[in-house]
Amino acid sequence: MLTYDLHTHSTASDGVYAPSELVARAAAAGIEVLALTDHDSVFGLAEAQLAAIPHGIRLVPGVEISSTWQDKTLHVLGLNVDPECEILREGLARLQVLRAERAREMGRRLERDGIPGVFEAAEAMAGGGMITRTHFAKHLYGLGLAASVRDAFERYLARGKPGYVATRWADMEEAVAWIRAAGGTAVIAHPQRYKLTASALRRLMGEFREAGGAGLEVVSGTAAPGEIHSSAEYARRFDLRASCGSDFHGPDHGWPKLGRLPPLPAGLIPVWRDWEA
Ligand code: AMP
Ligand code: MN
Ligand code: MN
Ligand code: MN
Repeated sequence: MLTYDLHTHSTASDGVYAPSELVARAAAAGIEVLALTDHDSVFGLAEAQLAAIPHGIRLVPGVEISSTWQDKTLHVLGLNVDPECEILREGLARLQVLRAERAREMGRRLERDGIPGVFEAAEAMAGGGMITRTHFAKHLYGLGLAASVRDAFERYLARGKPGYVATRWADMEEAVAWIRAAGGTAVIAHPQRYKLTASALRRLMGEFREAGGAGLEVVSGTAAPGEIHSSAEYARRFDLRASCGSDFHGPDHGWPKLGRLPPLPAGLIPVWRDWEA
């Protein structure tokens, strides 16, 4: 079986490496099939596709769409999407505007809290890619206002904290529809991260299936073994294809590593089975 990593980030959003550098590192880590899935953007895909050729890597064009389900932010991965699809592009363009507006408002709120210039610094760090809370967190950490990037999230950027701005992203159903319009497979990313109760998770899986969603990221770089086990149960029960992805962002301490994923639990149908058929 090939080695898959179907969830990674580049400088097109909050990853540390440019798409071509990410591809080179993935190849060095032994990954044979790599999906680049930047937040709300397909702008890194062309560079990644080109870089994949000399490395003999199969690049799966992807995107991680920010969506809202029952007032919670839910990340929906689109795998094997056509990045040229107009419906997908228009949907992402809407989220890109939302991201830019949210970032400005985050900057205003932090300024009121006594920390000026964070928006400008985060925007410069994003370098034309999607501006994310990660950029804000890195800058706040750099200012010495937090003990780590994670701590910057907890102090300033999490729900209820001074820099937090509630955002209504795409509806979950819309995100799935854009992915399907682009010929892709819609996958719920890191299901263990949403702090949903078991009954809410069941409702989500049912509605996701109903909307045309096809997969669940059972093996995530950020999931504990027990969480993988429980996600596998949901995948079986709701007849969802299983995906695996590190959610790699960079080499920094605390992030999952590229290509170091446990195998998919037995008895699951991998997302790639449909692509290979
Ligand atoms: P955004 O989509 O702009 O709200 O940013 C979300 C991103 O922030 C996620 O994709 C993660 O990369 C990062 N993130 C969220 N929570 C944390 C945390 N507690 N520590 C570190 N990074 C985080
Ligand atoms: Mn991220
Ligand atoms: Mn995510
Ligand atoms: Mn991600």
